[in-house]
Amino acid sequence: MEVISLGAGVQSTTLFLMAGHGEIGPKPAFAVFADTGWEPKKVYRHLNWLRTKADEFGIPIIETQKSNIRDDLLAAIETDVKFADTIRFANIPFFVKNKDGTVSIMKRQCTKEYKIEQIVREIRHQLGYRPRQRVKEQVTEWIGISADEIQRIKPSRVPWITHRWPLVELGMSRGGCYSWLQRHGYPIPPKSSCIGCPFHDDRLWLEMKRDDPESWKEAVFIDYEIRKLKRFRGQVFLHRSCLPLDQVDLNENQLDLFDDGFLNECEGMCGV
Ligand code: SF4
Repeated sequence: MEVISLGAGVQSTTLFLMAGHGEIGPKPAFAVFADTGWEPKKVYRHLNWLRTKADEFGIPIIETQKSNIRDDLLAAIETDVKFADTIRFANIPFFVKNKDGTVSIMKRQCTKEYKIEQIVREIRHQLGYRPRQRVKEQVTEWIGISADEIQRIKPSRVPWITHRWPLVELGMSRGGCYSWLQRHGYPIPPKSSCIGCPFHDDRLWLEMKRDDPESWKEAVFIDYEIRKLKRFRGQVFLHRSCLPLDQVDLNENQLDLFDDGFLNECEGMCGV
């Protein structure tokens, strides 16, 4: 069975549409979108558009969700504030300002728990297996990593799933994806990632602040809320500077100095 891991960003959208056009084969049985529940509205609008193509191509898009990562985070903050015990929460890679002034980044658990494991669970479900039942089929999971992001490639951790990177096979870069989409008259997808993902670079934060005030307001709110977390030794922040997000100087003229750090971080599951 062939399955597309659909993040709904540029690369995985291109992958999905190319499969629909028969430019990459064999035809996948379905595409899976693991929803953290915390994407900007424009991503969900894009996903709705993709669903119309799914009907046309005969490649269903299946959505799966562990729970809403934002709600889980707020629940974790509430237990830290009100109770002595804390509930477990899958770490988001927050920046931590330690008591000695150093800055560290928390070990990320969110991609694995909200995306990778959910996709595996959904594929098992589609194959008709119960949890923990041994899967006999071999599944090829297509991941939307482009040829310029080869450092993000990681083999599958699940023995019955083999990862495949068709855009890398074709030597298609992110720019090549844009060209393909434009040639076919398709819209350019928005970047897909959680609203408050600390992997956002300054370019993305600035775009959000200017073009998506609703998401920006939400990110600023969450950034203040996470300072209430007591389970860590230092204070946590969404921005690498360890300043409150709404106080960070997102100087437009300096933006070219920043790499898109996000591209290096999320295993082709987020931000694609
Ligand atoms: S986008 Fe960021 S916060 Fe969301 S799951 Fe991926 S790494 Fe975690």
